[in-house]
Amino acid sequence: MAEQRPGLMRPFPVTTGVSAPVAAPIQPSVVYAAESPTALDAQYEGRVQGHTYAREGHPNAAALAARIAAMEGCEAGLVTGSGMAAVAAALMGLLAAGDHVVGSDQLYGRSLRLLREDLPRLGVAAGFADATDAAAVAAALRPETRMILIETVSNPMLRVADLEGIAALARERGVLLAVDNTFTTPRALRPFEYGADIVIHSVTKLLAGHADATLGWVGARDAGLAERMERFAVTLGLTASPFDCWLAERGLLSFDLRYDRAEATAAALADRIAGMPGVQKVLYPGRADHPDAARAAALLRGRFCNMVSFEIAGGRAAADAFARAAGQAGLPLAPTLGDAGSTLSHPASSSHRGLTAEGRAALGISEGTFRLSVGLEDLEALSAALARAAEAGAAEARAG
Ligand SMILES: *Cc1c(COP(=O)(O)O)cnc(C)c1O
Repeated sequence: MAEQRPGLMRPFPVTTGVSAPVAAPIQPSVVYAAESPTALDAQYEGRVQGHTYAREGHPNAAALAARIAAMEGCEAGLVTGSGMAAVAAALMGLLAAGDHVVGSDQLYGRSLRLLREDLPRLGVAAGFADATDAAAVAAALRPETRMILIETVSNPMLRVADLEGIAALARERGVLLAVDNTFTTPRALRPFEYGADIVIHSVTKLLAGHADATLGWVGARDAGLAERMERFAVTLGLTASPFDCWLAERGLLSFDLRYDRAEATAAALADRIAGMPGVQKVLYPGRADHPDAARAAALLRGRFCNMVSFEIAGGRAAADAFARAAGQAGLPLAPTLGDAGSTLSHPASSSHRGLTAEGRAALGISEGTFRLSVGLEDLEALSAALARAAEAGAAEARAG
């Protein structure tokens, strides 16, 4: 009888063969069979390891979470369906109505929006401060402040936060410090070593590294904090897809090599861009003319990351000409970062379009500001593409 519909009966326990796969297997199952109600009790009570239902956790998420936790140097971490889901798990999983949070005024756009618009609606007030100045962060603290959220290197101006000063402040005042480590990655800096309580990643970016998976990760040094974030994430369904986790785990295999290569190219390219026509300013934490050069040298110790920002003359028309020529030369205008291929972004029309021109100007962003996420292409090829784009932008600026 059972043989009539082969594959539909699923005997338990499953027996495995004598060989094991070398590549990580992918496990898309939504649900997991258990031997008995008593076995399920043991699983739910954490006495034995196992999975029950994919929203609560699955093998691909667990494997990826453990790898990133090892890279960041913590015990417990959680993979989420996006970087923003990880930010939400930290803020909404740990804060309650009446609490106050202080965010860097240069946070990722959606993180700013979460703090400005969504948390206040739920009774959590937010303040903002310049994270390059620990005294400014101290001035923004209130008696009910429970958390500080910063990014070590900001977008798109690549300002370097006073991580050590802010960590000391957080410790002294008993406030949780959450660090979004997406730009720096554990290759450049491990925030837990500086006293961060929570570390967040958009795994979508450099860690997965191929612009084909949307994922996040959030980890904590304290197991209790990690558990509260996980409970919230499971309840809200901030869960990641097994396939995306599998792609990211595969991407991580080459992460160190990709990061080192992209960073070395970015450092060389930053100096070349500075000499291209129409370029008014280059921002790279490894350059002596960067506003936080001294702190970058001390904190990042040569790991200045793969992002280069710059400003060209000539306003929107020159920016359009620059982007068009860059696209034709193989450098797409695409608002992401950390892909194996280099991408350009134009903050005024994408990540920072929600701000007024004055608001952007206060951050140093103009219509001529571009951010380049350097990928794995050859330095000479990238240099040539950017030079052609710069020529086109400069020609438009002259004509205008
Ligand atoms: C992209 C990004 C996020 C959000 O990640 P998603 O995976 O796009 O949700 C958060 N923080 C930083 C610094 C980012 O660059």
